Amino acid sequence: MTQGLTLLGATGSIGASTLDVVARHPDRYSVFALTAHRAVDGLLALCLRHAPRYAVLSGLPEDQAVRRRFADAGCRAELLFGVQALEQVSVDRNCAVVMAAIVGAAGLAPSLAAARSGKRLLLANKEALVMAGPLFMRTVREHGAMLLPIDSEHNAVFQCMPPPAAKAPPSAVRRIVLTASGGPFRATPLERLPQVTPEEACAHPNWVMGRKISVDSATMMNKGLEVIEAHWLFGVAPERIEVLIHSQSIVHSLVEFADGSVIAQLSNPDMRVPIAHALGFPDRIESGATPLDLAAIGQLSFARPDAQRFPCLGLAYAALREGGTAPAVLNAANEVAVAAFLEGKLRYTAIPQVIEQALQSAAGVRGDDLEAVLDADRSARRTAADCVAMLMGKAA
Ligand code: NAD
Ligand code: MG
Repeated sequence: MTQGLTLLGATGSIGASTLDVVARHPDRYSVFALTAHRAVDGLLALCLRHAPRYAVLSGLPEDQAVRRRFADAGCRAELLFGVQALEQVSVDRNCAVVMAAIVGAAGLAPSLAAARSGKRLLLANKEALVMAGPLFMRTVREHGAMLLPIDSEHNAVFQCMPPPAAKAPPSAVRRIVLTASGGPFRATPLERLPQVTPEEACAHPNWVMGRKISVDSATMMNKGLEVIEAHWLFGVAPERIEVLIHSQSIVHSLVEFADGSVIAQLSNPDMRVPIAHALGFPDRIESGATPLDLAAIGQLSFARPDAQRFPCLGLAYAALREGGTAPAVLNAANEVAVAAFLEGKLRYTAIPQVIEQALQSAAGVRGDDLEAVLDADRSARRTAADCVAMLMGKAA
């Protein structure tokens, strides 16, 4: 019997890698549902290739013309419109596995719904965990869901950790070290950073990804979000989570144990590796990635990140230490600032300024229930938008 897979964010970069792996294992998985926000053509093409039971366009209202287009093209999937459909296909009893690969805060509700219905949940959508870490982990525990990290660093840490049966105490882990490529601007002269363009920011040296995470990688907010993500996933204190620049992106992360042993996971930088790991777990299945040839790579290098070049990393640690809804504020302000940068409205170096302003303006709310998180998200978006408008006014 195959397992039904719901793929939230099917038209994105993680979506494509997931479908590539799934197509290699028709004996294990069948595609139950594919979702996209508004990418009608992209979703139709995927439906014709993978024949899901449901296709969801979550960012569009009911549209008869789109329905006809799908039918005329020979698509037999049932087409659903609107945001509610994301939860519907995530909790359906015919879906066993949910891949959460929507970008940003929009992924929180359907990921939580999947956790609440006890699914095997493959989490790429790090923003969900950053916003609502305690609530998310509690929901997973209470409803017997299985959470498997897709972010390459967290998937690496998961692989390095002792299996649950080994019953190692939390004190056995001394340190988690998350590696970071340093992005496209790791050696750009600091005085040129105010002028860098969205195209330069999205030209990542090692990974091809969606535009939002590409900018996050350039500012290293991506690593900041990942520090928060690692804290919730593995229950390790912020001061025991470190970041190391490793420009080749071969060592995906490391775990140091009490006895001084350090265990790392290595592979070529290809998201199909963590995706295949999580799909197959505890089995190992073919991912399609090129085998690692260390002799051809020759050398691996490591360095500490430069706080002046990457202020977003410090902001993320500060939000994690503050706790409560501060990480949700950090995430919301970052989403607004990055979108403004991608639209050419905000300078690259103003991204951390907007986030810092939002963190300072936010009232320190301790609550971690969904309502408090969503309130913090909404008001941080307003503060960040005002800050963007103010900076645009100054620049004009
Ligand atoms: P992407 O931009 O390529 O794709 C995003 C997907 O989400 C698309 O299918 C899009 O239709 C959908 N979407 C966008 N906005 C939406 C909304 N408001 N509501 C519903 N659906 C929406 O992004 P990506 O690079 O595939 O990243 C997806 C997630 O995975 C992000 O959270 C990212 O941080 C994480 N991630 C990505 C990579 C990578 O290599 N791309 C690596 C690690 C983690
Ligand atoms: Mg990552």
